[in-house]
Amino acid sequence: MNRIVFTNVNIFDGTGADTFNGEILVEDNRITRVSKNGDTVNAGDARVINGRGKFIMPGMTEAHTHFSWNDQPSLSAIQFMPPEEHILWCVRVAKRYLEMGFTSALGAAAAKARLDVVLRNAINAGEFPGPRYLAGSQEITTLGGLGDNTLPHLPFRELNFGEVVSGPEEVRKAARMFLKYGVDHLKINLSGEYIAGIPAEASPFSEEEIAMLAAEAKRAGKRVAAHARSSESVKQCVRHGLELVFHASFADEEALDMLEANKEKHFVAPGIGWLVNTLYHAEKWGITEEVATKMGYARELEVASETLKKMHKRGIRILPGGDYGFAWMPHGTNARDLEHFVKYIGMTPKEALLSATKLGGDLMMQPESIGQIAPGFYADLVIIDGDPLQNLKLLQDPEKISLVMKDGEIIKSCQDDLPAQAAIHNRDVNEPLREPGLNKALQETH
Ligand SMILES: [Zn+2]
Repeated sequence: MNRIVFTNVNIFDGTGADTFNGEILVEDNRITRVSKNGDTVNAGDARVINGRGKFIMPGMTEAHTHFSWNDQPSLSAIQFMPPEEHILWCVRVAKRYLEMGFTSALGAAAAKARLDVVLRNAINAGEFPGPRYLAGSQEITTLGGLGDNTLPHLPFRELNFGEVVSGPEEVRKAARMFLKYGVDHLKINLSGEYIAGIPAEASPFSEEEIAMLAAEAKRAGKRVAAHARSSESVKQCVRHGLELVFHASFADEEALDMLEANKEKHFVAPGIGWLVNTLYHAEKWGITEEVATKMGYARELEVASETLKKMHKRGIRILPGGDYGFAWMPHGTNARDLEHFVKYIGMTPKEALLSATKLGGDLMMQPESIGQIAPGFYADLVIIDGDPLQNLKLLQDPEKISLVMKDGEIIKSCQDDLPAQAAIHNRDVNEPLREPGLNKALQETH
């Protein structure tokens, strides 16, 4: 059995409790004991990692992930990557998320039909490192909707970012195709998006089409995620029981009432970083603040901020992540959302951290195993050099993410005083390590 004990760590356990100094015992892939107030976990012969008082927290969950977005400046540019390169890209990106402390992620739509599913299967099989992952479908969209990229004279399906459907039967067929491929949930674009030239407040799907998707998902026991910026699209999510609501910027009071009445069922992942970066940080790609404002992003950020504040006060679950993987919001910078949650939504830093940890367990449908540091939970742990409750920016700095453990395995350690990559699971700890810093670490811990 692989046994590791973290001693002298400042524990943010993801329950909502204040941090406390203590010890954490990991046996194989689970946390088995946690002690506090100077008590020891009686680790016996477990390998010791002395945290030197550092902050340790549960691995984070990214609630709205597009691994297959390849840091390009348009949906078409993302889509044009050939499938062979595309899956390799996904593999590389998944590792980066893990190294940035995201040990779980929910796929918000793949750029090609099977990318998410194939990646999830490879991660689960232990072939490549990556977060625990729930695979999404491609975006199901309608003729002329967000993700219909064909041109009138080039009506080729392969040009599309999404799976374009029209009418309930085509929705059914698309749903069944993605279910056949093995997705964990289906994704539908219920509203527009300014950058694609379709107003965010447009709601192009008919009730019949949405009802068909909901019915097909339900029969298969799968959830549905929706790109839903317009108020009407948020209401459609609640009416049809689509659990995962992305964006929700323009939800009006009625939509908020509906969400609140069903808050045990729905999750909102606003992807607020997308609004912030498109408005303020896309100049290099020709989108100045003026251009973005003309498109509608200044107004959307303002409205979304007010909407999300109300949502948070009503106790509706809001989670970080969303739409990273574009040129002006590259993968790996996802933890910026936590800062945005404080600035734009009025969360406390602690609430922001809980949204990335505890709520992540709910989102991943494993609230008893993911998102907390407590006996029985997976050993998904992150050690931070500094206190994120004082400075959430630390979570954006790879240098400050001292150690990442997923499933009991040390994925990353950038410190001399902590065993690193080579100290992976099942490795004989008595075997000498080549790096001098690591040798020192092992001498100190034995
Ligand atoms: Zn998205």
